[in-house]
Amino acid sequence: QAKLMGTNRYSFYSKELGAQLRERMTRESGLHRALERNEFFLEYQPKIDTQSGIPCGMEALLRWRPTAHGNLVSPNEFIPILEETGMIVDVGSWVLETACRQHLVWQQAGMADLVVSVNISAVQFHAGNLPETVTKIIHQTGINPALLCLELTESVVMQDIEQTIATLYQLRELGVKLSIDDFGTGYSSLNYLQRMPLTELKIDRSFVMNLPHDENAIAIVDSVLNLSHSLHLTVVAEGVETHEQASFLTERQCHQLQGYFFSRPLGINAFADYVDFSCRSTP
Ligand code: C2E
Ligand code: MG
Ligand code: MG
Ligand code: MG
Repeated sequence: QAKLMGTNRYSFYSKELGAQLRERMTRESGLHRALERNEFFLEYQPKIDTQSGIPCGMEALLRWRPTAHGNLVSPNEFIPILEETGMIVDVGSWVLETACRQHLVWQQAGMADLVVSVNISAVQFHAGNLPETVTKIIHQTGINPALLCLELTESVVMQDIEQTIATLYQLRELGVKLSIDDFGTGYSSLNYLQRMPLTELKIDRSFVMNLPHDENAIAIVDSVLNLSHSLHLTVVAEGVETHEQASFLTERQCHQLQGYFFSRPLGINAFADYVDFSCRSTP
């Protein structure tokens, strides 16, 4: 009896694993053709300047809609596969170029000077030729590098420190801005942080989420705000969902806010309408 159960259990698990593996292989082979099939696109989430109350930038976020079934797949699901397979290097370049081209289209249409932020994966950063790729894209698109910001996570910059600092300087020399994304979730050495030519810190959503009542969240957010102010970095809060969170952060001189309270990530037309509307309706 026990033996029989054991066998059944084994076959149950192996079926489960087999299904997971098949799904993952299907995703992976779908991703291999996603670029050529034009299945990727970007959405743009506004970043609001707390002083003026109007948009000062946007974050480009990658979206994948496989032609096969037409539903969006979450970046949290497909980006790890792109990273593990190395495809993120090419897809990441596509994101950078697409965001810069779109930025230029908006500039030429008379939109205000907004800073466009692009997420850079660890694999992309450590691939070795990021400064060259960024240089090429700046020249090809003609974007003002001061209006381009690269978002890196703490895990990216706390790896291989000396090489990382050198790469960061190369990027800064191009004139682009450098941001640390999801700040507070990783393990950052403050000592290294002050040696990096950064322009911005983004407070992770997991802390913002618990504002303004949770004492631990307040303590962490306050210390990131203080750190940013004393290092003269722009500080941005991500995942702002309520009016209370927005006013708490504004009172404490958080420079920029991003989150569903202001807007979800938007398609090209909706984003242009959002900016147009915000600028018109704010005196
Ligand atoms: P992230 O860079 O921290 O981006 C913020 C994520 O939080 C986005 O999720 C955004 O839609 C979501 N978000 C913004 N405001 C709110 C809010 O108020 N509430 C909640 N619950 N969520 C909010 P998304 O688009 O699903 O992206 C998830 C992650 O995938 C990103 O986190 C980033 O790490 C990665 N990612 C997205 N696009 C790219 C890309 O082009 N390249 C790379 N390397 N990674 C990307
Ligand atoms: Mg980001
Ligand atoms: Mg983030
Ligand atoms: Mg995040």
